[in-house]
Amino acid sequence: MIKNDIAIHWFRNDLRIHNNNSLLNLSQKYKIFPIFIFDETQPKEDSANYWWLIHSLDKLNQNLNGNLHVYHGKAADIIRKLIQKYNIKALGWNRCYDPSSIERDSFIKEEFKKFSLDYIRSENSHLLWEPWKVKPTKNKLYTVFTPFYKKGCVSDPINKAKLNQPLQLVYSDIHESESLFNISQFNLPIWTQKFKKYWKVGEESALSTFTDFVERKIDQYKDRRNDVDSEFISQLSPYIHFGEISIHQMWDNLNKLPCNNGVNHFKSELGWREFSYYLLYNFPDLKEHNIRSEFNAYPWKFNETFFDAWKWGQTGYPMVDAAMRSLYETGYLHNRCRMIVASFLTKNLNIHWKQGAEWFDLTLMDADLASNYASWQWAAGSGTDTMQYSRIFHPVIQGKKFDVNGSYVRQYLPEISRLPNEYIHCPWEAPQSILQNLGIQLGQDYPNPIVNFEQSTLEANKRFEIIQHLI
Ligand code: FAD
Repeated sequence: MIKNDIAIHWFRNDLRIHNNNSLLNLSQKYKIFPIFIFDETQPKEDSANYWWLIHSLDKLNQNLNGNLHVYHGKAADIIRKLIQKYNIKALGWNRCYDPSSIERDSFIKEEFKKFSLDYIRSENSHLLWEPWKVKPTKNKLYTVFTPFYKKGCVSDPINKAKLNQPLQLVYSDIHESESLFNISQFNLPIWTQKFKKYWKVGEESALSTFTDFVERKIDQYKDRRNDVDSEFISQLSPYIHFGEISIHQMWDNLNKLPCNNGVNHFKSELGWREFSYYLLYNFPDLKEHNIRSEFNAYPWKFNETFFDAWKWGQTGYPMVDAAMRSLYETGYLHNRCRMIVASFLTKNLNIHWKQGAEWFDLTLMDADLASNYASWQWAAGSGTDTMQYSRIFHPVIQGKKFDVNGSYVRQYLPEISRLPNEYIHCPWEAPQSILQNLGIQLGQDYPNPIVNFEQSTLEANKRFEIIQHLI
């Protein structure tokens, strides 16, 4: 088919060319003018997320044969100008679900009706179950994961007709040289330079990571996923966040595998992601406000010394410290560690979940408004599932259980790495003679615990009593 007219495909959280629903639809009829816009919805320039985004755009641009154009500013103004200048006939994108994007996109859809475009259309390419398509309960929102997943997410989410269709891209001949993507134009924060040691960004790597996980690891996923130095997690979260892999394609591939506990459990973790988006859609201000307003009366107290100790891995609790140092070093944190450090910050240090979520936002490669803020509220107890409040993770017990031989702690805390296994998670219990032999001076080489765990747990429980009667 000869394509004469031009369509804009506006890339956002779908930085791939395969199984990209909007791109596929548009390319069947139009020449494609691919664009990306840096507006207020994009990650902050000093974040780990930004590092990934820029490298991901670079890979995408290579896959688009150097045709990606990038712009900075208000999306509606930029797109309006392009439509008028180049006689664009269609505009498409894949949907985002955060409130700023929804507001922006709704405005553009409405406002651009006055242009005589053949169509403006958004597609779903980021979620399995659109929040409004989750099978409803009796006039109530799902507030707990299991019923959401078991009763709400029951329809088959895959549109087989769209999956794995060959893409026949013809590019428009628009070349705005000053807007063509060029990675050297972006200043990446110095602290993020080390990430290239750990990550391979882009669509090809996303697919090979998924394939490797499915071939070698998924069968053991359920049993081994909590080991913090585990080989048996997928580490797909940044790829999924940036849409470098299609969640529909993943789901379809998973459904074709022999059904076992590993596969089912992995699918349910993808379900948690859907739940986070469902919560974000239904509680659009969850980044700012407690989902449970009863928590507005909770006496959080910011303490800068404690917060700094937490951020930089200097709390004196090896599991917490190794986790926080690994986050800053690699831009990634194991799920079990995320739960441990979130519990420690909000309960033992009594610091508001927002502070922790903002630090994660800055330092996580997969920082995702839905999953990050919903998970922090879940961990703090202010989310929909209040049972979580009384669940306070003991860093020593967690360490002994999920970092059995201390290898994770040793990797990130070299100053105590020579401690024998029995003290690696609780150096303060080591006899002075052992510490002396190893040349470790607690309080100098490695901090003493900044709070007493048992005492701070009692205090957390007392604080909870203040609001418990409201719940
Ligand atoms: P796997 O165990 O291999 O799981 C596969 C995929 O399922 C993940 O890539 C992710 O897309 C999804 N997933 C798994 N667990 C969860 C979960 N509990 N909630 C939502 N999705 C999940 N995940 C993010 O993607 N971005 C975040 O910003 C984020 N912040 C978090 C903050 C806190 C305090 C906590 C407790 C969890 C957070 N999570 C977040 C969820 C989870 O920790 C990560 O998705 C997971 O650790 C990523 O590693 P993985 O890809 O190896 O996961």
